[in-house]
Amino acid sequence: LQAPSASGLIWQVIRNESSRSEAERDAILADPGFGNHFTDHMIDLCWSEKGGWHRPRVQPYGPLELDPAAAVFHYAQEIFEGMKAYRHADGSIWTFRPYENAARMQRSARRMALPELPSEIFLESLKQLIAVDAAWVPSAPETSLYLRPFMFAKEAFLGVRPAKKVGYYVIASPAAAYFPGGVQPVSIWLSTNYARAGKGGTGAAKTGGNYASSLLPQAEASAKGCQQVLFLDNDGYIEELGGMNIVFVHRDGTLVTPESDSILEGITRDSVLQLAADRGHAVERRRVTMTEWREGAASGDIVGAFACGTAAVVVPIGRLLADDFEIVHSGAASSELALSLREELTGIQYGRVEDRHGWLT
Ligand code: PMP
Repeated sequence: LQAPSASGLIWQVIRNESSRSEAERDAILADPGFGNHFTDHMIDLCWSEKGGWHRPRVQPYGPLELDPAAAVFHYAQEIFEGMKAYRHADGSIWTFRPYENAARMQRSARRMALPELPSEIFLESLKQLIAVDAAWVPSAPETSLYLRPFMFAKEAFLGVRPAKKVGYYVIASPAAAYFPGGVQPVSIWLSTNYARAGKGGTGAAKTGGNYASSLLPQAEASAKGCQQVLFLDNDGYIEELGGMNIVFVHRDGTLVTPESDSILEGITRDSVLQLAADRGHAVERRRVTMTEWREGAASGDIVGAFACGTAAVVVPIGRLLADDFEIVHSGAASSELALSLREELTGIQYGRVEDRHGWLT
């Protein structure tokens, strides 16, 4: 047991007696892939209507025991976050804008009728896990420890109402460089048969169901030879990709990104647009139609587009494929801009570039 923390919680650390050896860990860190391997510990914190947040633990990574009636299995009352811990050249470990993830998880919680985890506790949970599993943060270029906080309804009750018992967990997974051979432009498939979100729906929340419903259109994209799927809203406005936000590059250097209350507000997008604004680019957050993109690409007004998100950071979009048309962006200027913003952002994350916005914790 530790002394009470700033949040008032008393964290208990239960060491994993079967932690992997240094040699086993090094073998995994040499080729971690993404989401395949998990560190030796996890965070487990309970919430109940009566007791609030309680029993904060760092414990051995392992299966959870849940009642088959746990509400999450039936009504998908679940949210999550995704972020990374980066190792700097001096060995220190940093997270990037974690308070933004904490705030987004609170917004997701409100929408899904889950309890809001105070930012302080969110931050403590990450620090507690990284403190015991620090050796799992890899140090090769562009590698990281992916952190996955999540929360779900574990009350065993089949009535349809917000659960009175909830669990919050954090697991961590070492991640390889996303583009080991250099950043490659992606092709995206325009989904017209399926929508990701609707007005008043859960599109702005990071909740499992949004991803479940994206799997079929994502499979359609893969079958068309595309890496990602692009979703529109019901009025034909561009929303986002299955797991990344989209930004358009105009001839005059203006960056335009869809504004919508049914997309996930990416922390990468917000950061990249801030860096671009710092360089003097005009930045517009507004509605964008598919027609604007098509006509802009044809007239040369829109010179390119890129996707952004925690996993791949920033990736130029080389091609959009739709049922009956295609947009190809082969111009160098836009992808050079995307790549230089990527370089600056990863530079900050890995401590090579001054953190002038105070984004690192
Ligand atoms: N949109 C969706 C649907 C996502 O899953 C993600 C990844 N979390 C993003 C956008 C990008 O968000 P971030 O930059 O915070 O990773």
